[in-house]
Amino acid sequence: MSTKIVERKPLSFFENSYLPTLVSGLKVTWKHFRKTALEGQSLTMEYPEQKWVVPQGYRGAPYLVKDQEGDTKCVSCQLCEFVCPPKAIRITPPGPNGAPADRRNAEKAPAEFEINMLRCIFCGLCQEVCPEEAIFLQKDYSLTGESREEMIYGKARLLQLGGTHGGIQKWKHKLEEAEAQEVFPVRTP
Ligand code: SF4
Ligand code: SF4
Repeated sequence: MSTKIVERKPLSFFENSYLPTLVSGLKVTWKHFRKTALEGQSLTMEYPEQKWVVPQGYRGAPYLVKDQEGDTKCVSCQLCEFVCPPKAIRITPPGPNGAPADRRNAEKAPAEFEINMLRCIFCGLCQEVCPEEAIFLQKDYSLTGESREEMIYGKARLLQLGGTHGGIQKWKHKLEEAEAQEVFPVRTP
């Protein structure tokens, strides 16, 4: 295997002296000094008293949402858990003897739904994959806690933070749709 040696361009006298970078740094310092001390402008934000207003479409923390009738939209299909790259989601399905879903016609709802916000990378794949529009990345970017356990958000907290979201209610008329379906004729040999 041939090797190509790339010659490194030697630094000039000025580059060696760090003078150009020093001068450009001082220019930034002077510009900020002029704006703050002479023109009375503020270049920084006094966080957390002042909060950054995020733009529309900002993708912050993912939360579960309820539909317009106050029912849980999630049907515990576990697609989001499967697709989540850092494995931040953990869903406990209701199981055969679990509590039924809190909305008519829905097959099931998760017994528990946890998102580890320390792992979440706000990638949005859970939102993309959810067939029920039950999980959305919202505008929260400042998540704090005093322990690792506190940063694992459970179902009740996720639903409370997520609030209500209109849109599709796939299960709402499922029973009527199923009953209205034509019965296929059974062929006898
Ligand atoms: S936003 Fe990405 S990392 Fe966070 S829970 Fe959803 S899929 Fe996982
Ligand atoms: S949030 Fe959506 S994708 Fe995740 S389990 Fe619930 S219904 Fe399925």
